[in-house]
Amino acid sequence: MYELYEQLLPTKLYTKEKTQTSTDGEVLCRLCGKVAESVAHVLAGCSSLAQTKYLYRHNAALKILVFELLREHGLMEEVPPWYSPVMPKPAYQNTTSEAFWDIPIYAEHNEVRANRIDARLVNHERKEVCTIEMSCPWIESRAKKDEEKTLKYGPMMWELKQRYNGYRVEQYNVIIDVLGVTLNT
Ligand SMILES: [Zn+2]
Repeated sequence: MYELYEQLLPTKLYTKEKTQTSTDGEVLCRLCGKVAESVAHVLAGCSSLAQTKYLYRHNAALKILVFELLREHGLMEEVPPWYSPVMPKPAYQNTTSEAFWDIPIYAEHNEVRANRIDARLVNHERKEVCTIEMSCPWIESRAKKDEEKTLKYGPMMWELKQRYNGYRVEQYNVIIDVLGVTLNT
């Protein structure tokens, strides 16, 4: 872990700039070939990993939280262990609550571009709508990411407030950086 925080891993950038052990002077990422291969790039910024490894990490972490919420709302009886390959279903429903996983919200009242929030829970008894968006940015970007997500989903939250008149509508941004440190909002 120390090597990760101090960015001492032998990435291409490190071997060229710090230890001068690089032989060819080449610093571009060995996966995407577009950007300098730094620790931050490999853990959170590489386009070659974005759709596969990062998405897997994102879903594997988020589903644990979502399963707990589903159980709390009586939408699921038993929470699968964290290492289980079971993923949440797209939709759950019982007499008081509904939950959606990665389902876009089709806006009726205004133009909403960012409508694919990670998860959404509606409790009709408590009159509560809770949306959850998760991201795993590089360590310096946590506060920025939180702000970015709130701005991005602003129009969608407004849409939900119109649709669920009289409900408390909350957006939760779960920001866990690539080394596992969280920002609570
Ligand atoms: Zn790359």
